[in-house]
Amino acid sequence: MIVLKSTRELALMREAGRIVATLLQELKAQVRPGVTTGELDRVAARVLKQHGATSPFYNYPNHVRSQRPFPGMICTSVNEELVHGIPGKRALREGDIIKIDCGATFKGWIADSAWTFPVGQISPEAQRLLEVTEGALYASIAAARPNNRTGDMSAALQQFVEERDFNVVREYTSHGVGRHLHEDPQVPNVGAPGRGAKLRPGMTIAVEPMVLAGNYKTRVLSDQWTVAAKDGKLTAHFEHTIAITDGEPDILTRL
Ligand code: MG
Ligand code: MG
Repeated sequence: MIVLKSTRELALMREAGRIVATLLQELKAQVRPGVTTGELDRVAARVLKQHGATSPFYNYPNHVRSQRPFPGMICTSVNEELVHGIPGKRALREGDIIKIDCGATFKGWIADSAWTFPVGQISPEAQRLLEVTEGALYASIAAARPNNRTGDMSAALQQFVEERDFNVVREYTSHGVGRHLHEDPQVPNVGAPGRGAKLRPGMTIAVEPMVLAGNYKTRVLSDQWTVAAKDGKLTAHFEHTIAITDGEPDILTRL
């Protein structure tokens, strides 16, 4: 069931979105060779607390393998790791790329945003992967107009990426967001125009291209959470939470 948000509810989601954007900005400033993903997680805990928010990821249940709820405030995924990486002792190195996925729950409403950051100087190939994935985010958002369908967002994303000779993930999707981190509709990274749920004002969607430099196949690591490229090649991930309006989509997770 797709939940439409009222003007008042959208205002609260925008507040959550500002907190997420602020958090990502603070984390970006911390990304450098030598910093550990656990240190980034502690920065996230502090910033969320300062803003009266909590992490919707912390203790999130593991639906695939029931043993272990998510132990971090944020997800940190390095190089071939795509999403759901667990912060810990790993120190970033010059030339790495790190995906940081952040959420904030504020007064019961959630915003969700992710960014891929270079660590020091990165290769031209890695730089291009980041640019294409960020471009795919905005291509998908541009299709998020009333009376379009979710398939139009999927198709715009997939086409943007594949025309540039990268691949999109199959197993993970953009998604509705609001009182819950994952709501309907699911919006896959692949799809055909004119298919799926019709977009209507008041819908809120976390739009998230997940792009692989190599083959699209992924695997879950032994920590039961981290999703990585099966072939070990680089991956990137960008995400904004948006609201569908009468006209242009409204990005809630930017300052
Ligand atoms: Mg996210
Ligand atoms: Mg998300």
